[in-house]
Amino acid sequence: RRSTREWQAADAAHFLHPFTDHQALATKGVRVITHGDGVYVWDSDGRRIFDAMSGLWCVNVGYGQGALIEAAAQQMRTLPYYNAFFQTTTPPATALAERLAAVTPAQFRHVFFSSSGSEANDTVIRLVRRYWDLMGQPERKVIVSRLNAYHGSTMAAASLGGMAAMHTQGGLPIPGIAHIDQPHFWAHRHGAAKGLSREEFGVVAARWLEEKIAEIGPDKVAAFIGEPVQGAGGVVVPPSTYWPEIQRICDRHGILLVSDEVVCGFGRTGRWWGCETFGTRPDLMTFAKGVTSGYVPLGGVMVGERVARVLIERGGEFEHGYTYSGHPVACAVALANLDVIEQQQLVQRVREDTGPYLAQQLANLLDHPMVGEVQSCGLMAAIQLCRDIPLRESFAPEIAIGMACRGHCFDNGLVMRAVGDRMIVAPPLIMTRAQVDEMCGLIRQALDRTYAQART
Ligand code: PLP
Repeated sequence: RRSTREWQAADAAHFLHPFTDHQALATKGVRVITHGDGVYVWDSDGRRIFDAMSGLWCVNVGYGQGALIEAAAQQMRTLPYYNAFFQTTTPPATALAERLAAVTPAQFRHVFFSSSGSEANDTVIRLVRRYWDLMGQPERKVIVSRLNAYHGSTMAAASLGGMAAMHTQGGLPIPGIAHIDQPHFWAHRHGAAKGLSREEFGVVAARWLEEKIAEIGPDKVAAFIGEPVQGAGGVVVPPSTYWPEIQRICDRHGILLVSDEVVCGFGRTGRWWGCETFGTRPDLMTFAKGVTSGYVPLGGVMVGERVARVLIERGGEFEHGYTYSGHPVACAVALANLDVIEQQQLVQRVREDTGPYLAQQLANLLDHPMVGEVQSCGLMAAIQLCRDIPLRESFAPEIAIGMACRGHCFDNGLVMRAVGDRMIVAPPLIMTRAQVDEMCGLIRQALDRTYAQART
């Protein structure tokens, strides 16, 4: 068995990590996570860590679920792989397509499988363009997205996303993508949201889409894509007025609405799908992560009947697909994962029990001198750090207060994510009330340490 230091040396020598500054990592040394159980993971020094990020928004049923492990082993023994290209399928792939149609809103009866959320969003671009070509409106090409959105890392998905640093490094976006600002009440508190209630601001933020459509020309806009709650952008829970107004604008201009459910899907917001929590009727819906609880890679696009009918009846061959579209092991694990979600009534538990309880416990943190606001939706939440109450001023960016807080969390046995000055959690959906208490206790300790450090 290798020691932590040996792992760190091997890692520094060979492993290029995603979204990582390798010089900074080399000075600290990578943390080596060796195993997990329930809501906890352990590192190579035997320390138990509360995983309040479900890995990376994905391990929704927690670690060590026997049914998923058994499903993978069984399928590997029976048939580890077969493709879906040769007018062929495998039982798990078709069974999962059928099952997904049953748990998604009524307009969805078809699915296109990928292996990741990035590939799913790439697929969306192909589908949207194909749809408008087949509809005889090939000039409808532009997809509108939002700043700070994260839709993946392929060139097309990163273009859809609105992360400035990703665009700068990749020479992105590719042509045909436009962005509007995010419905971020806190970020706009001194600007567009000043003097407005959250609900009033929601309508203002949605109308940025209408302004963008007018600027581009309504006959050139193909689709609007958004995460119901922006995840990596900072768990930005939109005002309740936002999505209904977006839906109205899309309907008015005949624009396709795409819901990126990679984070929000499979119960995270307290309903099966984030679009159900916010009351929209998307034409396309992407998913990944929670479909297998991250046990194996799988993603896809739910294709609503408006698009599916045109594609199937008029489209001929759709020139698109992946070797692993409908991978039988991934699909078998997804079926077992859906069983666990249903048997343990996880969606209902999040909606009626743990979600509201988390909101209540997080609200207690508002008495902390460094907490400006807390926001949550189901089991995803953000804690906004700020320099002084009641003025709620921001910390200077060079202090990197979020990263400092994240460090204190890790040292104290808790994984949280920092997005600028916003601390984020998205714990496994199996978590109990006692574990909500435990997590909130660990968060408060990390806040206290960060505050003490910031004052010195
Ligand atoms: N869409 C959203 C909302 C995401 O959060 C992510 C990943 O975090 C993606 C898409 C990309 O998914 P993947 O990393 O599986 O390619």
